[in-house]
Amino acid sequence: SKQSAADNQYQFFNLSMQSQLSTRLQIESQLSNALNNNELVLHYQPFICTQSGKVIGAEALLRWNNSILGNVPPDSFIPIAEQSGLILSIGNFVLRSAIKQTAHWCKAHQVDAYVAVNISPVQFRDEQLASHILELLEFYELPPHCLEVEITEGVLLQDEAQALEILNILAKSGVRISLDDFGTGYSSLSYLQKFPFDTIKIDRSFISSLAESSRNQDLVSAIISMARNLKLHVVAEGIETIEQSDFITHAQCEIGQGYLYGKPDLPEVFLQQILKQTKH
Ligand code: C2E
Ligand code: MG
Ligand code: MG
Ligand code: MG
Repeated sequence: SKQSAADNQYQFFNLSMQSQLSTRLQIESQLSNALNNNELVLHYQPFICTQSGKVIGAEALLRWNNSILGNVPPDSFIPIAEQSGLILSIGNFVLRSAIKQTAHWCKAHQVDAYVAVNISPVQFRDEQLASHILELLEFYELPPHCLEVEITEGVLLQDEAQALEILNILAKSGVRISLDDFGTGYSSLSYLQKFPFDTIKIDRSFISSLAESSRNQDLVSAIISMARNLKLHVVAEGIETIEQSDFITHAQCEIGQGYLYGKPDLPEVFLQQILKQTKH
């Protein structure tokens, strides 16, 4: 009957909400032990200089393998970590591991590269963030220019004054500052003059739509020109095809990142990739 169909529909909707909630709770409860159980590791994805084809750095990307949930992607667990506050301890772990790893590459293998670390808006609520990062650099003896912090507009939208203060301290010390997912937010253009950015990363969505129309190509070219005029480094994210790589190279985009050049992988894989090229 009509009545029971409606009931079923209601029931179905309810069950799906219920299961979303329980997945969320499960992620949160598993995540609270993930650090102690050594379930979190960093993978590294290369940045390529488009002119020389050489690897010049890497982005550190968090990976979580849990015995019950399996591999959980960061887009699923980072928002939960941010809402629960767990991102503070996880974020510290990410900073420490990336800085320690990069310092080791520099010292033991004479690697000349920088590593970019994603920082959550929640971490910027701690006014000690800058001094914490500088202490880690000093402790592991990593030159500040070998670290880049990647932030999104979300950082600038909350407490703008505090974000500016933290970023200015880091920039003055030589740490590089990068604006991630550029073009997906609201008023990125005014941020470019107000905050001490070194780099902007053109969001992957602009790259994946390059083949669709010449207007999309014109837009990407315009972003690259603007960045160059502002003396900013510019990275194109999500390069998957030779056509995309050729396009950004001809448009004089300095740096590329994407599956075509290398997927995020274990630190050993990145080390091999960068050592192989310096020997030739
Ligand atoms: P993001 O910082 O914009 O990182 C780029 C994402 O694009 C990564 O996804 C990377 O694996 C993916 N990617 C790179 N090249 C390609 C490509 O050619 N094709 C496609 N389809 N994807 C590509 P991932 O590792 O799943 O991370 C997703 C997001 O999670 C990151 O976006 C970042 O916002 C966040 N995240 C990852 N690690 C951390 C971390 O340590 N801390 C914080 N706060 N956020 C993190
Ligand atoms: Mg990033
Ligand atoms: Mg991005
Ligand atoms: Mg992103």
